Amino acid sequence: MSDAEAACAVTPVVRPIWRRFAPRFLEHAAQFARSGGFAAVALSDACVEALFAPGDDGELRPHAEWALASVDGAEVSTVTEGCATGLARARLDADRSYTVLDWCDRDAVHPGPTRAMRLDCVACTACCQEARVVLRPADLERFRAHGRPDLAEDGPVHRDAMGVMHLRFASLRCDQLETAGTCRIYAFRPDTCRAFLPGSEPCLAAREDTLDVRDDAPDAETAETGEGES
Ligand code: SF4
Ligand code: SF4
Repeated sequence: MSDAEAACAVTPVVRPIWRRFAPRFLEHAAQFARSGGFAAVALSDACVEALFAPGDDGELRPHAEWALASVDGAEVSTVTEGCATGLARARLDADRSYTVLDWCDRDAVHPGPTRAMRLDCVACTACCQEARVVLRPADLERFRAHGRPDLAEDGPVHRDAMGVMHLRFASLRCDQLETAGTCRIYAFRPDTCRAFLPGSEPCLAAREDTLDVRDDAPDAETAETGEGES
């Protein structure tokens, strides 16, 4: 569950919109990316080049990092010539291209490069269900420091065949998820839960898989109007 739960159940987020472009509209694609969207330049149905505007520090922004984590393995480089110079580029293979083009289909109803959403994490809880929360030694230390050494023991902690520790889910829900939708260890929850980004692709995927909600948050509104697409 996201940080939102600490103070308020509802998280306002502005997320990038995925848009498909034909290669001949590369200039539009670059402009769309510079406006905050994610451009998928479809070299073919089996090969997409994704364009992202980096942050001021030259690094990928969090939504781009999470999107690429969802299509694990994409190599990222910086465009060094032409109208997309300075943008980050990820060349995607067939499977990853299929996923990204599906995101473009999902986002086709949104006209701009970004979309404002209000996500109610307590009502949702999708990322606390059917998930795999990896634990690291720092998480176990935090459990102990907050008076819950029991959570650092085998039982609450499961180890997979590779020895990777993760939080026990006795059913499809995290054992720490209360029926009201709150986390009973919120103040010292694992880093995996702290890092999770509302409005990211894994968030949207969790909502779709668990709630059968395809990016349909209440009170959603379009943030901006963008360039024409291919
Ligand atoms: S899936 Fe997204 S909206 Fe739902 S609880 Fe997690 S971060 Fe919040
Ligand atoms: S510990 Fe469990 S209930 Fe709490 S935020 Fe993480 S996954 Fe959700």
